Amino acid sequence: MTLTNRITDKRDDLIQLTQDLIRIPTLNPPGENYREICDFLDKRLSKHGFQTQLIRAFGTPGDSEKYPRWNIVARRDGAQTGECVHFNSHTDVVEVGQGWTFDPFGGDISDGKIYGRGACDMKGGLAASIIAAEAFIEEHPNFQGAIEISGTADEESGGYGGVAYLAEQGFFDPNKVQHVIIPEPLQKDRICLGHRGGWWAEIETKGEIAHGSMPFLGDCAVRHMGAVLSEFETKLFPAMAARFTDMPVVPEGARQSTMNINSIHGGQKEQTDDFTGLPAHCVPDSCRIVIDRRYLVEETLDQVRDEVKALLEGLRETRPDFEYELTELNSVIPSMTDKTAPVVETVAKAIEEVMGKPPTYVASPGSYDQKHIDRIGKLKNCIAYGPGLLELAHKPDEYIGIDDMIDSAKVMGAALETLLLSKS
Ligand SMILES: [Zn+2]
Repeated sequence: MTLTNRITDKRDDLIQLTQDLIRIPTLNPPGENYREICDFLDKRLSKHGFQTQLIRAFGTPGDSEKYPRWNIVARRDGAQTGECVHFNSHTDVVEVGQGWTFDPFGGDISDGKIYGRGACDMKGGLAASIIAAEAFIEEHPNFQGAIEISGTADEESGGYGGVAYLAEQGFFDPNKVQHVIIPEPLQKDRICLGHRGGWWAEIETKGEIAHGSMPFLGDCAVRHMGAVLSEFETKLFPAMAARFTDMPVVPEGARQSTMNINSIHGGQKEQTDDFTGLPAHCVPDSCRIVIDRRYLVEETLDQVRDEVKALLEGLRETRPDFEYELTELNSVIPSMTDKTAPVVETVAKAIEEVMGKPPTYVASPGSYDQKHIDRIGKLKNCIAYGPGLLELAHKPDEYIGIDDMIDSAKVMGAALETLLLSKS
């Protein structure tokens, strides 16, 4: 038998596995049923000869007795020593939202697709990697090296209780793990080399409260923020728009530096919808915005931060009474694996074999767990490759195509054959 035939034969198993995973509602936030999904994966993978470890990320954001952050790492050693290929999938899914015509946790099948929250992002990818690994082990019981499969928490909220925690514990030490494939829904014929970086900060401008009829007796924090926004419009946005990356980011609009202003608030608190009164007349003494700055592999975090600070400092020097406070909220580094890295070349060859055409190389506008494997684990040989359409992630009626899962499982299997079979 060949490995591809074996994977074709596992179609029903793959469907059942995907449905079972979707039916465990691992909503994040708050982070429900992580233990349940780890126990399920533990049972499944132990049966196939994997050694498993369940690891709780104690003390990470969101971890509590009610919502413990459980992760699983399963390892299957071959007959001989060699390299280790690690498949990492996050087990959490985002909220359901409105507009579903299917049961979001039903795993219903219609027209060759399995529907549910997390179907493409990324329980379908997790299921495909499990089927690929199990079929590979059956076909080549005497393989060299090791296969690891992890199911990790909290990717949708930054990955701190998942991959970041495991990386801190040494699970992605390049001495132990040589190749990492993250089966996020990037499409079965595309290799995702990495993602842009991000920097999040809150900027507050300060004023002085006074009666609204005599604004000259106070100092309007909202007008100061207007000056900040005008600096952004006239200087920062044009500067960012002129900066292009060599990263193959899709969609193409994200091949530039970008910034979103996530929120703005100034002056008195907004009242609830049922409040029928009128606002009081006050000069606002505070205005706050949150910015979401996505940056390129060609930029550094220091440059990104300094650019915004320089504009604010410029205002402090030129604008009377301008006072501000900048609070950094979070940051992630950009990550970009080289096209000639072994895992990239191996998966590219496998895609060509299975799909009959070379892959498209892409990078992601937002980040995923590769950042932790890169920065904390110091492991550069990492890609995202998996079935499904990124556009469906987080949407109503999210689905995964069964044929797409089969094809990408074949690609993963072919990659394992290249990396874990004796070259002699
Ligand atoms: Zn995902």
